[in-house]
Amino acid sequence: MMAPEDAFRLLADGLGKAGTPQAFDHLVERISTIFGGEHVLIGKLLSDEATVRTVAFWSKGALLPVSVYTLIGTPCEHVLNDEVCEFTADVRQRFPDSALLQELEIESYVGIPLRAPDGHLIGLLAVLFSRPLELVSYAREVLRIAAAQAGAEMARRAEEEKRRSSDYQIQQLIYWDSITGLPNRRCLMERLEEACEQARLRDSCLGLLYLDLQRFRQINDTQGHELGDQILAEIASRFSTQVEPGEFIARLGGDEFMVLLTDTRPAAMAHAIERYRNSLLPPIQLAERSFSISASVGAAMFPRDGDNAQSLFQHASIALNHAKRDNSRTRFFTSTMADELQQHEILQLRFSDALAKGKLSLAFQPQFSLKTGKLIGAEALCRWHDEILGHVSPGTFIPLAEEQGLIRPLGEWVLEAACQQIIAWERQGKPFPGRLCVNVSAQQMDDPRLAEHIQRIATRVPPGKLGLELTESGLMRNPEQTVRITRALCKAGFSLAIDDFGTGYSSLTYLKRFAADTLKIDMSFVQDMLKSSHDHAIVSTIIAMAQTLGMLTVAEGVEEAEQAEALRALGCTGVQGFHFGRPVDGKTFAELWL
Ligand code: C2E
Ligand code: MG
Ligand code: MG
Repeated sequence: MMAPEDAFRLLADGLGKAGTPQAFDHLVERISTIFGGEHVLIGKLLSDEATVRTVAFWSKGALLPVSVYTLIGTPCEHVLNDEVCEFTADVRQRFPDSALLQELEIESYVGIPLRAPDGHLIGLLAVLFSRPLELVSYAREVLRIAAAQAGAEMARRAEEEKRRSSDYQIQQLIYWDSITGLPNRRCLMERLEEACEQARLRDSCLGLLYLDLQRFRQINDTQGHELGDQILAEIASRFSTQVEPGEFIARLGGDEFMVLLTDTRPAAMAHAIERYRNSLLPPIQLAERSFSISASVGAAMFPRDGDNAQSLFQHASIALNHAKRDNSRTRFFTSTMADELQQHEILQLRFSDALAKGKLSLAFQPQFSLKTGKLIGAEALCRWHDEILGHVSPGTFIPLAEEQGLIRPLGEWVLEAACQQIIAWERQGKPFPGRLCVNVSAQQMDDPRLAEHIQRIATRVPPGKLGLELTESGLMRNPEQTVRITRALCKAGFSLAIDDFGTGYSSLTYLKRFAADTLKIDMSFVQDMLKSSHDHAIVSTIIAMAQTLGMLTVAEGVEEAEQAEALRALGCTGVQGFHFGRPVDGKTFAELWL
C-alpha cells in the first residue's frame, strides 16, 4: 500500500475528474494504485436492491465492460450492511457460489457502501486481492474518502438521469399531442418559423395546408368524445402515412391538422392536398360502425401569401374558412379573401353595437291553418337594418352572433321583444290568436339551462301564446340534452316546432323522444315539390310521418296557390309563406291580420 500522503494526494487529484464521464474509471484506477489491489469495482445498486450493475471495473490494469450480478452469495452482500467490510483471507471458500471470485482467484476483499448525500444506499465500492489482506491504519480512511467521491458522483448522475427523463416528459407534453401522437400546434409554429427563415435564405417557397374535418363536431357530440378521439387517432395515422420527404404534419387541436411543405410549388401543393384528402376516402370502421370523414383544406404559400410564419398561418386559416363554404372544399389564399375578412370584422363590430344599443327589430310572418284558413300563429324573425350596410339578413348575422358568443343575449332579446309585442297587441285591443314562435339557434341548444332561461324571460305572457322553433341540426348536436330541454319546455306549456325539417339528420328514435309537437317542412322541399317528384315524395313522407307521431306540420316558404293546394291534399296542417303573407313589422301585422 502507498504512503498516506501520496494516497491522499492521488485521491485529491482525482477530484478534478468529478462530473466527467470518466470520473468512475479514474477512481477505480487510482484506488487500484493506492491499494495495490488487482481488481477494483464500483457498482450501482439497482432498484430491486438485489442486483448490482458495475459502473467501473478495473481488473489487472484494464477496464472491464459493464456487468450485472446478484448480490446474494457474494461478499458484496455484506458491504451493504456494514461500514467498511473486510474479508482478509479465504473469500473464495466463504463464497463458493461466486463465479467471479473463482474466476479471478480472489483471496481477500474489502468493500464499502456508497451513499447519496441524503444517506440512502446507492451502491458499493470493492477492492479484491489475490493475496491475503493486511490493511494499514489509514486504508479505511482512504476508502471512506473514495466512497464519498463515488457516492456523490453516482447521486449526481442519478439526478441528471431523472432530470433528463422529466425534461423529456415535459418536451413530450409541450410539443406532442397525446391523442394522435402527432406534433402539436406549438411544435408546428416553431417549425414554421424556422422553415420561413430557411426559405428566406434559400429563396425557396413553402406551402401550408390547413385541414379541417367536416362534421366532426357532430360525430363528437352524438358518439361521445372517446370514440371521437379514436377517430382522430385513425385519421392522424392515415395522414402520417402520406407524409413525404420535406413535409411536416401536426395536429393543431380539435379537428384541425396542418401540413407544412418545404421547397414546394402550387402544383405540388395541389397534389399533396389530393393525397391527404384521398387518404380519408375509405370509411373508418370503429365500434362496429362506419364513419365517412372528409376534410376542407385552406392553402397558403410563402412568400407569396405571407412572408412570415404568423401571416402565413393566418392566411391559410382564412383560405380554410372559404374552403368550408366552397363546393370544392379546397381554396388557395387570395388577397381578396383578406379584404373579405376585413369586411367580416366590420360586420362583427357593427352587429355587436346594434345588439347592445337595441337597434335590432322583429318582423312577424303569419301562419295559417290549411283546413280552416284561419290565422293560427306567426313566426318572429329578427331584423337588422344598419345605417351603412343596409339590410343584413339573419342568415348572415345569426352566425356572426354565434361566432362572437352573442347568441344568448340575442336570443333573450328576441324572446323579450316577442313577449312585449303580444302584450302590445293585447293592449291595442287586437289580441293575438294562436302562438307566436321564436327561433332558437343551434348554439343556444348547447346551454343545458336553456329551458330555465326561457321561462324566466317569458313570465309576462302565458306559455300557451308562445312557441319555439329549434332547427333539426341544432337538436341533434347533443340529443340527450335536447330531450331534457324539450321536455322541460313542453311541461312548462310552450309549443315546440322542429324547424327546417328534412335538412338535418335526426334519427327517428330521437324524434319520438324530443317533446316537439310540430314539424316545419323546409322550404327547399316545398318550393320544388311540384317540379320534382323526389321533393314531392319527401314532403308527403314527412307529413305521413308527422301524422303517425301525432305531430302537426307547417310548410314553410309557400309562394304559390298550387303548392298550398298540393300540401292540403297531402294532409299538411299549416302553412307559412309569401303567398299568404310576408314578414312585416308589428304595427303592419296588426293592421293586416288582427
Ligand atoms: P327560418 O326560421 O326557417 O325562417 C324562415 C325564413 O324563410 C325567413 O327568412 C323568412 O323570411 C323566409 N320566408 C318565409 N316565407 C318565404 C317564402 O315564401 N319564400 C321565401 N323565399 N322565403 C320565405 P329570414 O327572416 O331571412 O330568416 C332566415 C333564418 O334566420 C330563419 O330561418 C332562422 O333560422 C334565422 N332567424 C331569423 N330570425 C331569427 C332569430 O330571431 N333567432 C334565431 N336564432 N334565428 C333567426
Ligand atoms: Mg323558423
Ligand atoms: Mg325554417
